[in-house]
Order: sequence, then structure tokens, then C-alpha cells
Amino acid sequence: MDINILIAALPSVNSWIDGYIAKHANSKVRLSDAGFSRLPGYFSSQLLESSYYVLVPRIESPPLSDLGLGALSFFEGGNYGGITYKDTFFATSRNESLHFHEMIHIIQWNELGPEKFLLAYGVGLVRFGYRNSPLEQIAYSMQAQFDARQQLEDVESIVRKHCREVIQTIG
Ligand SMILES: [Zn+2]
Repeated sequence: MDINILIAALPSVNSWIDGYIAKHANSKVRLSDAGFSRLPGYFSSQLLESSYYVLVPRIESPPLSDLGLGALSFFEGGNYGGITYKDTFFATSRNESLHFHEMIHIIQWNELGPEKFLLAYGVGLVRFGYRNSPLEQIAYSMQAQFDARQQLEDVESIVRKHCREVIQTIG
């Protein structure tokens, strides 16, 4: 897939995301009010206060094929428990491990900004597939450590540093 096709589609993907977030504005819950006991051990209160989640019956992803990204249509078919758009993630359950995973994506969105996040995520999908794309790989690997109740120091700075390394590889 030509990276220019991806770049050309990014504004439409971004508008779809903005519309989707706006549609759920009244159902947003601040993570600091979510009542999870373990998340504050991994993320700063500042981050949890500026992050949101919405409980939804099913996850919706941008209509990538309709937006000219047929090469990424496999992503639309995925059966995900959660998805993160900017400072808000959408989840089908109140599962703390899933919420931990999506918080990693919130940090990535924040570090990269929408344009670079979507570019890095899209390129990662094309090159490595969903599960091994770099922005997913780190989220799954930290989630496994969270599940194993391992201590994780400085999650936010590790994720931010990783983002900067990933974006370097795109050029
Ligand atoms: Zn993920």
C-alpha cells in the first residue's frame, strides 16, 4: 500500500472520529471517576483526569474501505473489546485490564497528536498486521505485565519514548 493513499485519507478518518466522539459526548466518564482500584498505580492522576471512556454495546471503527483505505479493511472486521479515539476510549465492558490497554493508546494519541498517531497506526497495520503493529505490541505487552501484577515504573514516559521511536521509523 502506498503511504500517500494513507496520508490522503487521514483528514476523512479524523473527521469521522471527531463526529463519533461528539455523538457520545453525553456518555463520557472521566477515568479518575471510573472507580478502578489499580489504574492509579500505573497512571498519574493528571492523566486519569484528562482521559475518558464510554461504555458501548459494540465497537465501531472508521469505515476505512469507504474512505479509500480498502487495504486496511481487515481492521474493520476485527472483534475488539475496545478502541481509543484521542482522549476517549470506547469499551464493551468495565474490565480493568482492557481499560489499562486503552490508556496506553490515550498516551500515544496525546504524544503523537491525531495526524501522526493515525499515520503511525496505519503504517503499523500495513507493515505488521494488527497484533504486531508497534503501537499495539507495546500496549499488549504492558497489559500482560499489568495482568501478571508486575510493577511497571514510569509507564507514561516509556510509552511516550516508544512513540517517538516509532515515528522515526516512518520518515
Ligand atoms: Zn490496542
